Amino acid sequence: MLRQYELVDLVKSYDPDADEDALNRAYVFAMKKHGAQLRASGDPYYSHPVEVAGILTKFKLDSASVIAGLLHDTVEDTDTTVEEIKGLFGEQVAQIVDGLTKLAMIEQKSVNNKQAENFRKLLLAMSEDIRVLLIKLADRLHNMRTLHFLKKPEKRARIARETLDIYAPLAERIGMQAVKSELEEIAFAELHKDAYESIKARLNFLREQGSNLVPRIIAQLEKDMAENDIKASVSGREKSPYSIWRKMQSKNASFEQLSDIMAFRIIVDDVGACYQALGIVHSKYHMVPRRFKDYISTPKPNGYKSIHTGIIGPENTRIEVQIRTQEMHEVAEKGVAAHWAYKQGAKVVGRNFRWIRELLEILEQASNPEEFLENTKLEMYNDQVFCFTPKGDLIGLPINSTPVDFAYAVHSSVGDTCVGAKINGEIRPLRTVLQNGDQVEILTSKAQHPSTEWDRFVVTGKAKAAIRRYVRAYKRDQFITLGEQLLEKTFKGENLEFNEKALVNVFPNFEAESIDDIYAKVGEGLVTAWDVLKAVYPAYKQSKLEKVVKSFKMPGFGKTTRKTKAKGEPLKIKGLIPGMAVHFAGCCHPLPGDRIVGIVTTGKGVAVHTIDCKQLEKYTEEPERWLDISWGEAAEDGPHVGRLKVMITNEPGTLGELSNLIARNNGNISNLNITNRTVSYFELLLDVEVKDLKHLTDIIAALKASKAVSYVARAN
Ligand code: MN
Repeated sequence: MLRQYELVDLVKSYDPDADEDALNRAYVFAMKKHGAQLRASGDPYYSHPVEVAGILTKFKLDSASVIAGLLHDTVEDTDTTVEEIKGLFGEQVAQIVDGLTKLAMIEQKSVNNKQAENFRKLLLAMSEDIRVLLIKLADRLHNMRTLHFLKKPEKRARIARETLDIYAPLAERIGMQAVKSELEEIAFAELHKDAYESIKARLNFLREQGSNLVPRIIAQLEKDMAENDIKASVSGREKSPYSIWRKMQSKNASFEQLSDIMAFRIIVDDVGACYQALGIVHSKYHMVPRRFKDYISTPKPNGYKSIHTGIIGPENTRIEVQIRTQEMHEVAEKGVAAHWAYKQGAKVVGRNFRWIRELLEILEQASNPEEFLENTKLEMYNDQVFCFTPKGDLIGLPINSTPVDFAYAVHSSVGDTCVGAKINGEIRPLRTVLQNGDQVEILTSKAQHPSTEWDRFVVTGKAKAAIRRYVRAYKRDQFITLGEQLLEKTFKGENLEFNEKALVNVFPNFEAESIDDIYAKVGEGLVTAWDVLKAVYPAYKQSKLEKVVKSFKMPGFGKTTRKTKAKGEPLKIKGLIPGMAVHFAGCCHPLPGDRIVGIVTTGKGVAVHTIDCKQLEKYTEEPERWLDISWGEAAEDGPHVGRLKVMITNEPGTLGELSNLIARNNGNISNLNITNRTVSYFELLLDVEVKDLKHLTDIIAALKASKAVSYVARAN
């Protein structure tokens, strides 16, 4: 294990300005906090964060990262709080540790293999600071290095599988080739012990057979370079057992059939020398077709640059040759961190997050749009959230998605019937905005239908389309119900027989193909009930209409106490859903208990007004639109909005008292507008959600009793 001064020296070797004091304090803090906890290896637990910090120095990370590496398990595994870390080590370190703790919590949820890609996206989305991800990878790397200490084979296998599915690809995505390879090798050895050992044995056998083939080829390539005055360092290696195994699998080949199991690397001074070296290699040895790739002129999206070629090389052996500069090499092995360190001249500037911008630049260099999308996820995922189903499946959604979006993403039948949601075990409203890593359980009921309300907060196209499709179909049903009631009432009111047979004869008059078409048109207000009546009974005298008009007009604009003399019983708003075929007028905000009148509005069904609403004057010339209605079951569909005009004294606390009074009377303020303001008074328009007229009247009475309120009345 690294000693305290060794770690500090390591950081100072590449960052002379590193915060030595904070590093020392963090080392001691981790040691104390983890106390007597032990690792499976029998080592004290704090050896783990210290080793993780050591790995981070290999990436040449800034001191904030190394400190966060030392502290990375303290919040999760000890009584330490993020606040405490903030107090001792500052905001930046605290945020990184907080991010790591959140990742650790997410990690504990089991994820199907199929979900690996979404899980990687989730980790990327949650690592708002790229350093969180780098420390997470270092953490995983050390845990893999010590994997063999774990006793339970199932646990080792699970961790190895997770490493192959999630962390090795993540390391690759941000260009950390060395970390990726090491993670893969350890995981491969754990998961496929037999294959690993037999490949190893074959490699050993070849090594003995070939009697130092690798060094001989290196020597020849060095000679080739020197003869052409190219300064180069050549290295060579056998490919790793895991990459050989993967190649065997992808090509369905046996080990013997694999030709190039050796790879050589020529590192030169600059880009020009790369192409010179390539020319030398290609002119001296046969090139293997389709193995040439120039990642210098077209870098990989993760920033990787190099030339790759396959040749029949020295000793007549098929080999792979990679040609690159030292800087390209560092970037290939260490990824983002190295790239950034180079640009900074190895001086660490930790505070301004420069390397996040660097990373984005690298990602933006990608030439292929698909690759670009595939690889800019760090940035892209700001637009997405990833949430778990109770079974551990991950669902990716656009940002600001709600449980309703989630429900539709699971299945449209779940969306159509959702009544509520448990988010992380707690019942939450359907309009709640989901956060990364939330576990969402949708509660459903067969009695539920999609609601127009949902359309206001859902964000996914799937949810929107499903809701609208349903509402459209449902609205037609509502118009049909309303239309039938309107026709029946109108016919009966005139003592005329109402039957469907009579209607069939007048289909052509209304471009209808069915009874429902006629009902829907009447309900929607495209055709009036009187039009239909006149079509069915052309001889019927129209004069009686006048009476109807008068009976409606009187109470509204004459003596308001007179009873409406409409014919027959008033139409109950029965079986009709407010908001679909019937809606409450925004001008007068009718409340259950108010005397009301309906106006059939073209294309919108029935608008309900209070009987004294000024807007009704507009319809005096159109008696056929008027409809005598009363509160039916619709009254139970609360809450309703009552609008109040209030004047309060302009003193501290009066607005508070006003809202307190309303709240105490179980009213809910849904909107508040200051319409006028003087030195001594505020004039307000208040929308209050109430059950019915009595409820609003009670609130008005309560307000009148308050000293803060100098005037209150229902606004109209
Ligand atoms: Mn850890």
